[in-house]
Amino acid sequence: MEKKISVPFVSFMPIEKELAKSMRLAFDRVYASSWYIGGKEDENFEKAFAEYCSVRFCVGTGNGLDALMLSLKALGIKAGDEVLVPSNTFIATALAVTYVGAIPVFVEPDIHTYNIDTKKIEEKITKRTKAIIPVHLYGQPCDMDSILEIAQKYSIYVVEDCAQAHGAKYKGKKVGTFGDVGCFSFYPGKNLGALGDAGAVVTSNKKVADKIRSLGNYGSDYKYHHIYLGSNSRLDEMQAAFLSVKLPHLNRMNAERQRIAKMYLERIKNPQIILPYICPESEHVWHIFGVRCNKRDKLEAFLRKNDIGTNKHYAIPIHLQECYKGLNLKYGDFPIAEEISKTELSLPMYYGITEEQVQYVVDIINRFD
Ligand SMILES: *Cc1c(COP(=O)(O)O)cnc(C)c1O
Repeated sequence: MEKKISVPFVSFMPIEKELAKSMRLAFDRVYASSWYIGGKEDENFEKAFAEYCSVRFCVGTGNGLDALMLSLKALGIKAGDEVLVPSNTFIATALAVTYVGAIPVFVEPDIHTYNIDTKKIEEKITKRTKAIIPVHLYGQPCDMDSILEIAQKYSIYVVEDCAQAHGAKYKGKKVGTFGDVGCFSFYPGKNLGALGDAGAVVTSNKKVADKIRSLGNYGSDYKYHHIYLGSNSRLDEMQAAFLSVKLPHLNRMNAERQRIAKMYLERIKNPQIILPYICPESEHVWHIFGVRCNKRDKLEAFLRKNDIGTNKHYAIPIHLQECYKGLNLKYGDFPIAEEISKTELSLPMYYGITEEQVQYVVDIINRFD
């Protein structure tokens, strides 16, 4: 009998312990400055993150959804336009499109990579298509060569949703640098997480960067002078300071996720489990380690009974969500997204999970029948 082990789906404790001192210093620094919005901390983090991504500009936002929404707005996407989004993604990707008045048009993912199926994009393009939002889902980059080729052919914008893929690379180049803009979320659970809500857009286009900054700052170019109907979505000084502490550890934290993924991939031997497929041209950063199983709900219950936390990404595809019933889509319209929603189960994956915990998850899964 092995001893009693429990494995949460995610835990921030290991990284919090390591960085506690530096985080407190960051808090003290901001608190002592009495300056909370739009200052040096924001500027420093934006500079560091732009450098990290190898782009010219980074604009902090209040969260990842706003990063997407402000980007679409800055690119001129508006009512009546169509924007292509994968049918299997977090709802924020589609909501950003809806919020600017445009229509999200879903494209099925590839059943192996779970990312947008580039062979199915062109059939969805119409005269009204203005942009595509590839989502580097679970931390694995999309097939950007094909996406860029199609985008160029039809003159549509590319807005990368990098919320799950900080630091991931496609053919040696970081995600967020392929499209017109790259949108990030620093929600606490992401690979680079703040201690609250935060987000950012990266781009090398100065005009777009300036417009996004202005749109997120009440549409102003200088104080009390408003050129756009903007909103309030800024990266605050406290979160920027915390993110600056964490950013230098991102590569190390991602490497740890890769080490954990490798253990799962090598050691899970149950024929009922479909392991994730890794594209040879991409460097996956494993925001989520998702397996598939035809008896997913039974597997979930079995793991729960053995004190292992799991999650589903995502149990209800967007086209079947109540809030989107206005799109008049029905069950059967996106069979691949539906299949993933019924079979996907995300295993514990976080910086600081011990090898003993990973082995325990593996052992329990291998015992499942
Ligand atoms: C988390 C996430 C978002 C939204 O980020 P928030 O900071 O929560 O607004 C957008 N897209 C994807 C794919 C995400 O996982």
